[in-house]
Amino acid sequence: MKPIFDIMKADEFEQIVYGYDKNSGMKALISIHNTALGPAFGGTRMMPYATEEDAMQDVMKLGKAMTWKNAACGIDFGGGKAVIIGDAKTEKTEDLLRAFGRMVEGLAGRYVTGVDIGTDENDMIIVHKETKYNVALPESYGGGGSTSAATAFGCFEGIKASVREVFEDASLKGKKVSIQGIGNIGSVLAKYLVDEGVQVIISDVNEDAVKALSNKLPVEVVKPDDIYDQDVDIFSPCALGGILNDDTIPRLKCKLVAGSANNQLADEERHAAMLKEAGIAYAVDFIMSAGGVINNSHQFIGYHRERAYGQVAGIGNSITQVFRMAAAGNITTQEAAMKLAQQRIDSAIKRKSYFLEK
Ligand code: NAD
Repeated sequence: MKPIFDIMKADEFEQIVYGYDKNSGMKALISIHNTALGPAFGGTRMMPYATEEDAMQDVMKLGKAMTWKNAACGIDFGGGKAVIIGDAKTEKTEDLLRAFGRMVEGLAGRYVTGVDIGTDENDMIIVHKETKYNVALPESYGGGGSTSAATAFGCFEGIKASVREVFEDASLKGKKVSIQGIGNIGSVLAKYLVDEGVQVIISDVNEDAVKALSNKLPVEVVKPDDIYDQDVDIFSPCALGGILNDDTIPRLKCKLVAGSANNQLADEERHAAMLKEAGIAYAVDFIMSAGGVINNSHQFIGYHRERAYGQVAGIGNSITQVFRMAAAGNITTQEAAMKLAQQRIDSAIKRKSYFLEK
């Protein structure tokens, strides 16, 4: 790995924080990428990273991605992320979570945390004992409840808006959608789509999950690797990153890719261009998957479900705007989404030229 300050300079990070607690053994890293729009906001991932370098790379990659996600989805938060090094199943204790909460509190609001892989709403109740700067609390604690339910809803709204832009027939009824991964998001999305009269095809490496969902909903099941070859209108990646690449893009027979998985493009520039060339519309992942952060951000103004979900539904408008910017400029939707995010960051910087004491 390059020296940290070289990476910080190249990617314009504001701050990287290391935390260690001798009592619980907590080892955590927080990246604060950009706070032009507001406090850096991104969840806490707990994983047994093989090396400290892996943890550092992850916290930086994820923190930077949050800047674009939060800016593009229209919330007044910057980008950041936290990782705790350790096995969430065996090493997560109350002392460790409270030590992490104190680390977050020590940043005095420059970073706001939430859930990610290895942490959940119950962990956030413990973290909240030590800091005001965390979201993703259950509704009974004044938070926005399930992050993944809001993400699935936002993804569905994004699909509806994308269909209106891409297909002559703007209705979902009768369309065919393949979903890769039917975990928290994919399973809820499948239900939304079936209810709209969509023919749904699913795949997952977890056979129990496949069985459970196909017992509940009228869906067709295909093997995990066959999901790319389906003759469908829409392909919805809801499992892994990097799945739009040199091998898979030539196999796709859909007109639209629209799902919740993070970092779908193996190479952002090249594979966005490859999709465009193949005539496949791409609903940008960091907008499609922003429902959870939008919903969680409402905790800071007093959580009100209808208002929060109203803003999550606005993902549809952001997606529409991105498709139209891309068409007008003959650029990829990925480039258009980055442009939209950068415009919001630039306006925030300009606003700050008018001094107000807070
Ligand atoms: P999840 O872990 O609940 O579900 C993922 C599913 O994908 C699992 O069922 C898993 O078995 C399956 N899977 C793994 N490898 C597969 C493969 N090769 N083929 C088919 N299926 C495979 O995760 P989730 O919460 O549903 O999130 C789905 C995606 O959306 C992830 O990429 C996640 O990072 C992203 N995302 C989630 C949220 C959220 O609020 N949960 C927010 C933003 C982005």
